[in-house]
Amino acid sequence: MPDNQPPDVGDKPRPTSSSANEFSPSGQIPTDISDRRSLARKRNGVHKSGTLIKPAPANFYDLTREELRQRVVQWDFSPVHAARLWRYAYREGAADWAQMPELPARFRERAQQELTWARLPVAVETRSTDGFTRKYLLTLADQRSIETVLMRYTGRVTACISSQAGCAMGCVFCATGQMGFARHLTAGEIVAQALHVDQALRGAGPGAPLAQPHSPSPHHRHERLRNVVLMGMGEPLHNYEAVVHAIDILRDETGLALGTRKITLSTVGVIPGIIRLADEGRSISLAVSLHGATQEERVALVPVAKKWPLADLMAACRYYSEKMQSKIFYEWTLIEGQNDTPENAHAVGRLLQGQWAQVNLIPLNPTAGYGGVPTGQAAAKKFQAILAEYGLPSTVRQRRGIDIAAGCGQLAAVN
Ligand code: SAH
Ligand code: SF4
Repeated sequence: MPDNQPPDVGDKPRPTSSSANEFSPSGQIPTDISDRRSLARKRNGVHKSGTLIKPAPANFYDLTREELRQRVVQWDFSPVHAARLWRYAYREGAADWAQMPELPARFRERAQQELTWARLPVAVETRSTDGFTRKYLLTLADQRSIETVLMRYTGRVTACISSQAGCAMGCVFCATGQMGFARHLTAGEIVAQALHVDQALRGAGPGAPLAQPHSPSPHHRHERLRNVVLMGMGEPLHNYEAVVHAIDILRDETGLALGTRKITLSTVGVIPGIIRLADEGRSISLAVSLHGATQEERVALVPVAKKWPLADLMAACRYYSEKMQSKIFYEWTLIEGQNDTPENAHAVGRLLQGQWAQVNLIPLNPTAGYGGVPTGQAAAKKFQAILAEYGLPSTVRQRRGIDIAAGCGQLAAVN
């Protein structure tokens, strides 16, 4: 993507690495008029012969519990079956009708015609030598790939999940940005990633459970997933509808039951999306990627800052913070000589002073398309000390999975 051309991030994504056909929900854009007519008829559920066409089965993981309940009632079955089905899927990790013995045979038969289980098969699992990080290369239905990361910390396990295959935002130091945009993920594809990590912990599915409740190591005791960060491939607010739908599914208290504040959405600064989150009262944890404290410095690293200028971004963040009564996490990739000097730290301090904010510093992770060097420990500490002078708490993110390219900004599946 040319630097001076931020993508028009609206409802219609602009392809950067693939043909326009991929943006049709069916994967097909009809070319001639008769094809288009036939598609219109199909959308209305009518074949040209006049017979009704059955809609394709829905992906179970695309549905909220309420949407599932409504479908089940439409099929003329009791909503009790919907609740049971939901629990089987999210509490027991079942993805096969044979694993759901409590459902009556007649109901199963109908549900089988109406629903599919689009789990994402693991093409490759890589384990970091740090012992705490696993990266999964997952295959989508159209054979594209995405990456999901499981990270264990003392007291918690976090799934880092993707919202798009690729990314259209073009941040210069990010491997996902360097690969370009392929397509948005569906809500079900986002949910399936979290479910995969939860299943890996609990040992449902192939392989032994990762969780060892009696382990002497606090890193290995977790029995289920409690934290999700939308910090994998893609810009979540460029895929707003699917992402918030997925969040609703992940939060459901009879399903994976993730706490709202345990879901962190990281955005490059898509202002309309931030405002919409606030207006819709979506109380997740919001992280905003800053990287530059002046408009000019930010644009050099984050080209879409041209479209969403820093001053407007700060106003949107204050709006979100006030409306949601919530702290904002600002992310700052520390690049030696580029944005890690004491002057840079003072500029961040001045910019964020007075906000309810925390700064998460991320020493640059290596990517093929960017030659920068990560800031060393001493300079990172100095940066933190200056932020503290402005009353800003900060952390330096633990480096995880760098040997398997599972760190921030390193995810880039080859499609
Ligand atoms: N698109 C979203 C979320 C995915 S990136 C966003 O940009 O916020 C998650 C975080 O990793 C962002 O803060 C991003 O700026 C940071 N990041 C990207 N590339 C990086 C790299 N090479 N080293 C360190 N952090 C990086
Ligand atoms: Fe996209 Fe985020 Fe990477 Fe920027 S840092 S290219 S927004 S994934």
